[in-house]
Parts: sequence; C-alpha cells; structure tokens
Amino acid sequence: MANTTFGRLGLVAAAALLAATADAQDLGTFVNGQLPNLVSTYKDIHSRPELSHHEERTSALLAAELRKAGFAVTEHVGKYPDGSQAFGLVALLQNGAGPRLLIRADMDALPIVEETGVAYASHVKTKNASGQEVGVMHACGHDIHVTTMIGTARALAASKSKWHGTVMLIGQPSEETIDGAKAMLADHLYERFGKPDLAVALHDTNSRAAGTVSIVSGPTLASSTSVDVVLRGIGGHGARPQEGKDPIVMAGEFIVQLQTIVSRQENPRDPAVVTIGDIHGGAKRNVIPNEVKMELTTRAFSDQGRQIILDGIVRTAQGVAVSAGVPKELAPIVTVLDAESTPVMYNDPKLAARVKSALVAALGTENVADDEPIMASEDFGVLGLEKHEIPTVMFWLGAMDPAQLASANAQGKSLPGPHTSRFEPVPEPTIRTGVTAMTSVAIALLQP
Ligand SMILES: [Zn+2]
Ligand SMILES: [Zn+2]
Repeated sequence: MANTTFGRLGLVAAAALLAATADAQDLGTFVNGQLPNLVSTYKDIHSRPELSHHEERTSALLAAELRKAGFAVTEHVGKYPDGSQAFGLVALLQNGAGPRLLIRADMDALPIVEETGVAYASHVKTKNASGQEVGVMHACGHDIHVTTMIGTARALAASKSKWHGTVMLIGQPSEETIDGAKAMLADHLYERFGKPDLAVALHDTNSRAAGTVSIVSGPTLASSTSVDVVLRGIGGHGARPQEGKDPIVMAGEFIVQLQTIVSRQENPRDPAVVTIGDIHGGAKRNVIPNEVKMELTTRAFSDQGRQIILDGIVRTAQGVAVSAGVPKELAPIVTVLDAESTPVMYNDPKLAARVKSALVAALGTENVADDEPIMASEDFGVLGLEKHEIPTVMFWLGAMDPAQLASANAQGKSLPGPHTSRFEPVPEPTIRTGVTAMTSVAIALLQP
C-alpha cells in the first residue's frame, strides 16, 4: 500500500514537474517535440477522409486526442434541418476568469479522387448522396486544420500560466456543404456551452509558402447563395417548334443575359459572381422538352450586391419567358436555397489587428502578410451570429513547399489549390506553423 501511495505521489510530482517544464519551455521547443506525432496523426487523417455529414471517424479521433490533452469533450453536437445528427464536437478548457475564445477546425473532405501520389494518399471510395461512387480526398486541407487543433490544444494545456479564461474548441462538420456551423447553432451550441467573446480559425492556402501566414481585415470571403432555376416551356416534336415553347432556346438566352447582371447592373466596385454549374434539359435530339433545370451559385461582398443578383435572376428568367410567349401559369420557378447559402466572412478589423500582432510576434514580420479578399466562401462566419455579434477572424496558413512555390511563381503559375486532386500541403512545416500561430494568437487573446 505504502509503495503504491509513494508511487502515486511520485507520478503526481512528475506530472506537475512535466507541466511546469512545458509551461516554462518556449513554444517553439514544445511544438517541435509534438511534431512527429502530429505529422503521423495528419497522415492517418489524410488517408481516411470522410465526406460532409459523415465525419464519424475523424470526429472520434479528434475527441479522443482533445480528451487526452485535458479538455472536457462533448460529441455529436449538431442537428441538420432533416433531423439527422451531426458529428460536431465541443471541447472546453477552463483556466480561471477571462475571455471565452472559440477556435474552430472543420473536419470534412471532398468527393475527389486524389492524384497527389504521396505515400499517405487516400484511396477511399464511397457513394455520394445520389448513390454515385466517388473518390474521397482531403482536398481542402481540413486534415491540416484538425491536426493543428490537436497541437494547439496540447500547447495551451501545457502553458496555463500564460493565459486566463476559457478555450472553446469546435470540431465542425460539413463546411463543404456549408450547413455544419448552422447545424451546431441549431443544436443550441451557445446555450449549452456558453457564448464566446471572440472566435478565430485558420485555413490553409496554396498561394503561400509553409512557414508563412496572411490575414485580411474586413470582408474576407464572399457570401454564397445557391439558386435553382426551372425554365418551363411546352414540349413537342423537334420538327414542329411553332406548336411549343422551347425551353432550351430560352435557357440559351437566359445564360447569356444572366452575365449582364454583374457586368451591367452591379456596381463594378462591389465584386460579384454568377455561375451556372449544372444544367439539365431534354432526353432526345428531336423532342423539345417541357423544361430546363439549372443550378446556380452566386457570390457577393455586400447585402445590396447579393439582392441585385437575386432580383436580376428572377427578372431575367421572367423576361426570357415573356419574350418567348410562355403562358403565365408556366412562369419560371426560381428557388433560393437558404440551407446552402452563407453570409460574407467578415474579419473584425479590431480583432484582426490583435491577431496580426500576435502572428508577427510569433513568426516574425517577414512571415506575416496582409492579404486581399477572395470570392470563395466559408461558413465559419455563421458562428459569429447575425450582424457580426461575436467578432470573428480567419487567417490564412501557407501550406506549399517554399521552393516549389517560388519556381511556379517565377513561371507565372500557381501550384494546385484547394478542391483539386493535386492539392498537396507539405505536412511538417505547415503543421508547425499552424500550431505555433494558433497557440500564440490564443494566448494573446486570452488575457484579462
Ligand atoms: Zn473547401
Ligand atoms: Zn476548406
């Protein structure tokens, strides 16, 4: 008995000593010590990607790692509109009075066959929602984000004397379908786990070298609104067009006219995009079909710009139908899909300035750049609630091999980017910088 007691005391003392050592240790040394394990975790997650709504293994792995790091973890947080449960997780670490800081990592992968050729490449195949067999790949680097979160959790747990408050880590599902953040809020995220004062996230990028980061102040990523359009006509024999109303011809006019919304109706200083990514109509060359269906994505940086686009789509569809003489009861159907839409990702300027100075202090001025907004979209901003109630900032984490990026840039080219089959973050330096950056930002923000 005595021996056991002594043994236990010894262990407690050793653990306390270890924690004290980590606390005193400089962050760089701590992160370097974690890197071999983090890189092998990254390769494991990379080789076993899961599509949006299916992040079961990834979230369980993240939950286990965060528990080991000393966080209180709740799994299966999130409810989709159809009532199904999401694989969201929340991990809390309380450390006295101070701000409540949300840090978010997304966990889902994309239906892409990986072509990077790396040893840890994914060979996973699965069926998508429509039953087609698809490859699965972490082509957006959300595996980097998950791994970075694990490293950040360990570093924060090991340096509790340097910060005060509560760390609230969010493992977010379904970013690629932009319904994951909404699903977590719908499951009473903040009522159950407390409303954060500040929220930060990072995203990897192919436009910067590993070892560097960049940040935008103000609007950072565009809003995205998904719209379905059905142009209805009157089908008939392909040789007797005078007896019908041809929706294929209407679709042709609609597609071309649609581009005048951005070029002629939008303010040129307020960027916007309208893209038709999917079009279906007809089944045989000599049959005029009854309708043509189109799936659109639109991007905008202001509410006004977004509204001009939506009004323009309705007007253009109606105008095309009227000019073709389509009867009123067959007017076009335009549906805005709110569940597949997301607002502008807005980096709160004050918080962005604080985050940037923490990044400069941790990585050096030469490794922190100011960046420009882009037309891609993200649902992280949803966690900041309506009217940016909670200040949010997302910064960019360089993920490319510096020499390869320099030689591509010298030829006026870029390296394969997110959502392509050859997007290849270089693991070790990217994760090292991600953990160092996010931990330093968290410590800087978690001050009384
Ligand atoms: Zn993505
Ligand atoms: Zn992404």
